[in-house]
Amino acid sequence: MSVNYAAGLSQYADKGVCGLPEVFDSPEELKVKVETLAQLIKESQYFVVHSGAGISTSAGIPDFRGPKGVWTLEEKGESPNFETTFEDARPSLTHLALLGLQRAGYLKYLISQNVDGLHVRSGFPRDLLSELHGNMFVEECEKCGRQYVREKVIGVMGLKPTGRHCDVVRSRGLRACRGKLISTILDWEDALPDRDLNKAEDASRRADLALTLGTSLQIKPSGDLPLLTKRKGGKIVIVNLQPTKHDKHGHLRIHGYVDEVMKQLMELLELDIPKWEGPTICEGSTASSESTPDVKPPRAVTAKEKLKKNLIKEERKREAARLTDDGSVKEEMGSIKRERADSPVVINEEK
Ligand SMILES: [Zn+2]
Repeated sequence: MSVNYAAGLSQYADKGVCGLPEVFDSPEELKVKVETLAQLIKESQYFVVHSGAGISTSAGIPDFRGPKGVWTLEEKGESPNFETTFEDARPSLTHLALLGLQRAGYLKYLISQNVDGLHVRSGFPRDLLSELHGNMFVEECEKCGRQYVREKVIGVMGLKPTGRHCDVVRSRGLRACRGKLISTILDWEDALPDRDLNKAEDASRRADLALTLGTSLQIKPSGDLPLLTKRKGGKIVIVNLQPTKHDKHGHLRIHGYVDEVMKQLMELLELDIPKWEGPTICEGSTASSESTPDVKPPRAVTAKEKLKKNLIKEERKREAARLTDDGSVKEEMGSIKRERADSPVVINEEK
């Protein structure tokens, strides 16, 4: 299957701000900033990373709002260039560096908006990862919540049935669950997965350092999660070539390729970048914990949670409308650019 995941989504009027010019720090500036980041990571108690499509472009998967992003080109009536398939894509240096940071004990939790499955395939522990918009390789049982990480993409989107059934055998060992398996990929209007969102929110509140990598932070609620960290007194570090929606909240903003930043960071922390040993898959056909790590059946959804889900859905719709109607995000970004032009100051000290 091609990486044209976007083509499988339903039509949606507004895709946010696309195609803003990229900004590059000079090599000297970049070095100083990455040194600051390394220091912040060393001092942190609970370090969380938020990843977006920008960390997979070097793996051959296009992003959405970059100069050659899917939505940027769509606005021009052009099609993106796919250099690989999801199955053939290999984790980037950044994916593997994140694994190294986790193994070294620095990175406590990883929150991703990416659906390409590369964090899981790189070997990142699933219990320390929230995939807020789903995973092309994961299908989930509607009935018991068991997830199956497949070797091939599921091929179905928008939480729809995949045609397969759950073969988990219940504790009595007599009968399989047989619940319908559904895709975990969200369409525009779908609510985020409860388990992943709750864990992401908890981690963001607990964090004293949030690093965002390759995301314009425009999609709600995912893009707003780092603000929970700041609200609790933590710091946000933003690595992105284009301006992001929350640049003004960044303690430090780094304008460089994520792979370059992570390479320098790992050197400064004296950590090796793990080698990739091939995709991690769990074609779970049993109920053993090895086959489906860290996935517990969902609790029954309470009325309060249902309400919260609906509120999030509404909020996403309103946000999309806001982006088109009053252009406030564009304004924010404009002011950031002006700010950058006026002052070459590297670090925004929090007030
Ligand atoms: Zn099941």
